Amino acid sequence: MSKRVRLVIFGRQGAGKGTQCALLIERYGAVHISTGDILRAAVAEGTEFGRKANEYMSAGNLVPDEVIIGIVKDRLAKDDVVAHGFLLDGFPRTEAQARALVETLGASGIDLAVNIDVPLPVVRERIAGRGRSDDNAEAVERRLQDYEDKTMPAVRWFGTIGKLVEIDGVGTEAEVFGRLTEVIDTHI
Ligand code: ADP
Repeated sequence: MSKRVRLVIFGRQGAGKGTQCALLIERYGAVHISTGDILRAAVAEGTEFGRKANEYMSAGNLVPDEVIIGIVKDRLAKDDVVAHGFLLDGFPRTEAQARALVETLGASGIDLAVNIDVPLPVVRERIAGRGRSDDNAEAVERRLQDYEDKTMPAVRWFGTIGKLVEIDGVGTEAEVFGRLTEVIDTHI
């Protein structure tokens, strides 16, 4: 039986984060916490909160830190997450979110942050081919720029606390998964 894992998965839009997270939860039995999925579910339910969130998302903007931090804190406190560990996907997306996460769990509450690195020209090509409803060209560029400006500082911040590992995200799904499990199994 594998150990309980508590992981943050970083990667640009189009880096294959979603696919790899699905494979990782299967292997490690952790709970997949995707803030994008949580927000899209709220939008689909048509709640007031979902309507508000959709204004940010459809414009390619980030939902405000305090809103998303509250959502993630609530989710992390649930029994299934405490028992089985977690894979955070899409959070943290800013350094403030990263600091809030570590304040909430303590540095020892997170095993590792893994950055699936895929260069910008490659993700641009991948996104152009997938056609999701929030994938209009302007929103895509805004999100990629936000990743460089806002999320990369969060990635680097995990480096400063000794929790960051970078892996090469170019290759087949199986190749990337192999690299991920190797670093995770080495560090956990
Ligand atoms: P993508 O895969 O395109 O990066 P996600 O599915 O992770 O997108 O999230 C979709 C949208 O939800 C984001 O573009 C953003 O507007 C919002 N969102 C998701 N996670 C966060 C977060 N941690 N902070 C702020 N906004 C978020």
